[in-house]
Amino acid sequence: MIIGSRPTKFQVVVDKNQCMLCGRCVDNCSYGVFRMEPEEIITNTRNCVACHRCISQCPRDAITIKERPCDYRSHPVWTAQVKENIFKQAESGKILLGGMGNAAQYPILFDHLVLDACQVTNPSIDPLREPMELRTYIGKKPRQLEFIQKSDTDISLVTELVPNLKLETPIMIGHMSYGAISLNAHKAMAKAVSDIGTFMGTGEGGLHEALYPYQDHMIVQVASGRFGVDVNYLERGAAIEIKIGQGAKPGIGGHLPGEKVCADVSCTRMIPEGSDAISPAPHHDIYSIEDLKQLVISLKEATEWKKPVFVKIAAVHNVAAIAAGIARSGADAVVIDGFRGGTGAAPSVFRDHVGIPIEAAVAAVDTKLRRQGIRNEVSIIASGGIRQSADVAKAICLGADAVYIGTAALVAMGCRVCGTCYRGLCTWGIATQRPDLVARLDPEEASHNVKNLIEAWTLELAELMGAAGINSIESLRGNRDRLRGYMLDQSMLDVLDVKPIGA
Ligand code: SF4
Ligand code: SF4
Repeated sequence: MIIGSRPTKFQVVVDKNQCMLCGRCVDNCSYGVFRMEPEEIITNTRNCVACHRCISQCPRDAITIKERPCDYRSHPVWTAQVKENIFKQAESGKILLGGMGNAAQYPILFDHLVLDACQVTNPSIDPLREPMELRTYIGKKPRQLEFIQKSDTDISLVTELVPNLKLETPIMIGHMSYGAISLNAHKAMAKAVSDIGTFMGTGEGGLHEALYPYQDHMIVQVASGRFGVDVNYLERGAAIEIKIGQGAKPGIGGHLPGEKVCADVSCTRMIPEGSDAISPAPHHDIYSIEDLKQLVISLKEATEWKKPVFVKIAAVHNVAAIAAGIARSGADAVVIDGFRGGTGAAPSVFRDHVGIPIEAAVAAVDTKLRRQGIRNEVSIIASGGIRQSADVAKAICLGADAVYIGTAALVAMGCRVCGTCYRGLCTWGIATQRPDLVARLDPEEASHNVKNLIEAWTLELAELMGAAGINSIESLRGNRDRLRGYMLDQSMLDVLDVKPIGA
């Protein structure tokens, strides 16, 4: 009571002249904002999270949501967010949780990098008329190839190739677990990647039977909680990913609240229904690169050396050295998750203050692996904050082989990035297990949207490459000469190994 009532984050207004009292806003809002009275709709604005489901369903465009209508007294240091966090913690004494990615206002490096295009002396390529090679192979590449010539017309490859994943586009969907998101969301994304010829991650929640038809396009994850992991699970995946860290919460584990562990989730994760699913911060069998190597080899042994094994880490200060160790552990790919990576729930203090951006991390890792002569040992997958096709192109120029998207795929299914996934009330049927809410997401329609998004980005990527006179994704990878830094200081340009504009 000392603190009193705080300003509301959003103000919801229903235009009485437009409203026809159809009740759709009442039915669609799982946060309890709307109430139907005989002659009007009453709103409880304080409950609003701005998921905009009501606006999307209102047949009369009668609803307006305004952000921060009555804000805190302004102050350059003691911002509204700082004060709000203090109030909440003074009342609760607890760690604050937040969903989705880093919400702090750091500069976005992708927006300070610009791509190149051909003019006059170096002709561009028209992707509509000429073939563009976007096919990408993820996994170890031999240092050199050896052939044997048996006759004038018969030449055979002698070098033994290790299994790689073949992607028709360098865009995959990263790991979001069943439990954190709904089965319909998983089905939609699995169908989309399967149709396109790319891959998605299961997250650490196991592989639901309904996804078995898409298993050839699924990367199964082994995280510190080992949820849902057995040999059947490992064998079903096209590749296996060991999750060491996550960009949204480096250095800590995960927590799926018991309310989200329904019968189906409990079965897939192999844990009791209603129990909290807690992933420890470290893997209790990994304290060195040698330990990691043992797990990589064990997983390869368990699957008869037929599957590539990835290792995912959060982008942190010494990420390049860690990635070099991973490359020596026998892993086939290193996934680097930048500090804008999404999550269902993370302590806000980690989400907003720990880790580094993916742009700097990818550049540092690619440089280190090249200098050590081991770039061919692992592919680099960049994730965390990929928002558009230009980000994909820039990440590849900085050294990535492929990217994982996450939040962008959810947005394609309706997500409004309201950041309250951890409450399990997602009105779009994505980050929830409540059957009535899950039923709102039609997997067929959502799959169509996700597929469209990845296809549209792939087309744009081909256009960007063509404009730069590049017809193969191989030639874009690590090609930092096709990037220039805009309003970046010299130290940042040095980390990215990119020249400034005009140079
Ligand atoms: S959905 Fe729109 S028209 Fe229907 S009751 Fe709500 S505000 Fe009125
Ligand atoms: S998935 Fe749902 S709850 Fe999470 S941010 Fe998107 S709209 Fe909000």
